[in-house]
Amino acid sequence: MAKKEEKVLGFKVCTLEYNKLLTNIKKDLTNNKSNIIYNINPLIVMNFYKNELIKEKFNEQKYNIPDGIGTVLALKIHGIKIPSRIAGIDLFQDFLNVAAKDKYKVYLYGAKKEVVTKAKENIEKQYKGINIVGITSGYEREDKALANIIKTKPDMLFVATGSPKQEEFIINNEDKLKDIRLIMPVGGSFDVISGYTKRAPKVWQKLKLEWLYRMIKEPKRIKNNLNLFKFMYLVVFKNNK
Ligand code: UDP
Repeated sequence: MAKKEEKVLGFKVCTLEYNKLLTNIKKDLTNNKSNIIYNINPLIVMNFYKNELIKEKFNEQKYNIPDGIGTVLALKIHGIKIPSRIAGIDLFQDFLNVAAKDKYKVYLYGAKKEVVTKAKENIEKQYKGINIVGITSGYEREDKALANIIKTKPDMLFVATGSPKQEEFIINNEDKLKDIRLIMPVGGSFDVISGYTKRAPKVWQKLKLEWLYRMIKEPKRIKNNLNLFKFMYLVVFKNNK
């Protein structure tokens, strides 16, 4: 049985069941308690596992999600069974729903200009009444993005500049972003929502092979793929919790 949280290679993972997690975060939003939701997946863990400072920053948060079957497997190897994998993009879309219903202001930062513009358009179509107060491409200067985020005072900020850039942006500017109630790095989500990239077909998702689909579709992600194997090696052979 899993406790409320477990660790994978030193990174805290929230093991709450999906709906419970969403309910808790919604409550925090209402009570004005801030959360940063990091995704714990093999690639992100490998980006940071040697960096104690960043690990500490991740571990200050309550709701880091087991995004990626690798995380679920790593826990399983240590005898911990968790309810399920939580895909960052699913949670992101549920937050958009909450934002539209409860009138939280949203900011989208990341991806190419045409991608984030189209993502905004699609989100506004799908989540009626949503208030997107700003967007910035992930190829603009970070200080410019930061200034605009602060100026527009969003309640929710989604950062999609890829890992490690997105997590470093959040951590380096934590003080300046502290009034934002919900911050989440969301990787390639704007590419998917804009329609520029397709998510793996449902059957691949069901078979828990979304990672394999991406690997085949984007072989240029070779470094990421190597990290995936390195992650499993560490988990299995180093018994490194
Ligand atoms: N990206 C960005 N700025 C950068 C590098 C990447 O905005 O300097 C965007 C990229 O356009 C894509 C997203 O980050 O929309 C995720 O990139 P990638 O697929 O490399 O990351 P992952 O999904 O593996 O986190």
